[in-house]
Amino acid sequence: MRVMMGAGVLNSLAHELDEVGLERVLVLCSPHQEDLGHAVARIIGERAVGVYPHAQMHVPVETATAARERARELGADGCVAVGGGSAIGLGKAIALEHELKIVAVPTTYAGSEMTPVWGLTESGRKRTGRDRRVLPASVLYDPELTLTLSPSLTSTSGMNAIAHAVEALYAPDTAPIINLMAQEGVQALAAALPAIVADGADILARAEAQYGAWLCGACLGATTMSLHHKLCHVLGGALDLPHADTHTVVLPHVLAYNLPSAPEARAALGQALYTREDPSVVLWELSRSLQTPQSLRDLGMKEESIDDIVEATLASPYANPREVTSDGLTGLLRRAWAGEAPVG
Ligand code: NAD
Repeated sequence: MRVMMGAGVLNSLAHELDEVGLERVLVLCSPHQEDLGHAVARIIGERAVGVYPHAQMHVPVETATAARERARELGADGCVAVGGGSAIGLGKAIALEHELKIVAVPTTYAGSEMTPVWGLTESGRKRTGRDRRVLPASVLYDPELTLTLSPSLTSTSGMNAIAHAVEALYAPDTAPIINLMAQEGVQALAAALPAIVADGADILARAEAQYGAWLCGACLGATTMSLHHKLCHVLGGALDLPHADTHTVVLPHVLAYNLPSAPEARAALGQALYTREDPSVVLWELSRSLQTPQSLRDLGMKEESIDDIVEATLASPYANPREVTSDGLTGLLRRAWAGEAPVG
């Protein structure tokens, strides 16, 4: 896909639509970013046929159906998804059915814009799949659009991106070039996030974080994810826990579980984080320093749900460097629930 990056790059959106060949675009955003959606429509001019400000986390199937209908009514030949993974996910849901091209303007670090992965949620269950038709044709990373991200969303969204790179390092289909991208992505985010939390207006750190998000998202798009993503997926779908917060809490615990069986990933992460210590502990300490939520309990999960989550996670097989046992997973979840330090 085409990728443009830099402060003010949003102003080249109309040119980008020319490059991709779009004449009638529907602008997608979440209700919280409706003003931004309209600002984007003004930049596009008369080729913007509407603004659809109804994107929601995990793309409920009803939202997808209504958005597809709106795109069809308006005769849209593409959409501009501006926002986080929810807005981009809605664009993917439309593209999956109508084969519209997507231009993505990400405003978080979630990384969906770099992947052919779509998701749809129905009756508390999230289905995901891969389809090249949902991969955006063009992505515009403008760090100015991330200046409004709160410190907490900045941190959790950045940790979400780091999780993509981490699991790419031990993915069954990882490759040397993915390894380099993953290390570079983790390094960029681990440096940028503390700087942004110290000064949210630091545009260079914001740009560095977007660069990291680009790399980490591309790692997610290129490889098969393991226990961490599976577990967050189950927790999000079954208990409606907030996506980026859940990734942030769970990641150090899954890493502590997996890294003893993934020595190359451990070495690569150590290099990216400039440490000889256990990377799972270093990431746990990083997230604590960023004042992110520290436990699944803080996110509203009840301790009684642990057994159901273990069962649902074990129900379908997936790649993982270490065998996932019921006892191992229960211990991991108990520590994540209580906010304890990660233990391998
Ligand atoms: P989000 O898109 O749901 O955004 C969270 C909230 O933050 C929303 O209210 C949004 O409007 C607001 N927001 C976003 N950017 C902002 C900004 N710059 N300033 C102020 N507010 C802003 O959150 P997310 O974490 O980016 O995305 C989560 C969703 O994306 C989940 O459904 C997840 O499954 C999906 N996702 C998919 C992939 C994929 O490859 N398919 C990858 C990552 C995430």
